[in-house]
Amino acid sequence: MSKVKTCYKVKLKKEDTVKVVTGKDIGKTGRVLKIDRTNSRIVVEGLNIVKKAKKKRKQNDKGGIVEIEAPLHISNVMIMCKKCGATRIGYKINDKQKIRICRKCGERL
Ligand SMILES: [Zn+2]
Repeated sequence: MSKVKTCYKVKLKKEDTVKVVTGKDIGKTGRVLKIDRTNSRIVVEGLNIVKKAKKKRKQNDKGGIVEIEAPLHISNVMIMCKKCGATRIGYKINDKQKIRICRKCGERL
């Protein structure tokens, strides 16, 4: 057994499909748009939407409320495997190349 690390290593990549496992968007899935490795956070398309007040820049600007995707901590999401759904990422060495696999079925992710 390997030791449990307190920091989270981001194993996700852009364009990965993830499922939210906690919070207000629980059960929803989306595509990863941005990855913040320093803070272990990701931005997922259409998820964790927050409303932000837009500032008026010009006199005739309308301003108002804009909806943006707020970053999610990676511990709040799981990657989606095409075969078995939400899963964890594992690794396998294949021809000296490290590939990502589904920990449930071993399918390449
Ligand atoms: Zn799988």
